[in-house]
Amino acid sequence: MIYEIKKYGSDVLRDKAKDVEKIDDEIKEILDNMVETMYETKGVGLAAPQVGIGKRMFVCDKGDGVVRKVINPKITPLTDDLAECEEGCLSVPGIYKKVRRPEKIKIEYTNIDGESVVEELDDFLAIIMQHENDHLDGVLFVDRVSPIAKRMISRKLQAMKRETRKTEQVEE
Ligand SMILES: [Zn+2]
Repeated sequence: MIYEIKKYGSDVLRDKAKDVEKIDDEIKEILDNMVETMYETKGVGLAAPQVGIGKRMFVCDKGDGVVRKVINPKITPLTDDLAECEEGCLSVPGIYKKVRRPEKIKIEYTNIDGESVVEELDDFLAIIMQHENDHLDGVLFVDRVSPIAKRMISRKLQAMKRETRKTEQVEE
């Protein structure tokens, strides 16, 4: 099943997501649907809040066909060095801006089989994981761009927010 992606202006994108307590069939199905939705929309990552589900989990594939289903992640930077990368987001369509993030991280999470996984990453996947993890705390990449870039996109974001609010009201 393909989920509808929540867009900038939707409240669920700003909420702090809750820990996944138990990996049951429902959680597995949601994660499967998220993977399907990620591929359908040509994304490299998708977090549960982006499809309106306030749980701490995301899926990603940096482009090599290896899917990760990440549950209750915890990220620790392993360096003060920052990597700058142009980012976009399925929830903020049409906007691409540079963001600086720690270039090397450790991520600890639970996989779909309930096993603890620890990975140290310093490639594109490290950037994706940090971007997706932000979603679980209600943070969007546009919050992390430079002040100049922020000014450049502020009108577009305001318009997007108005549009989202309007659409969500109609749906209610
Ligand atoms: Zn995103």
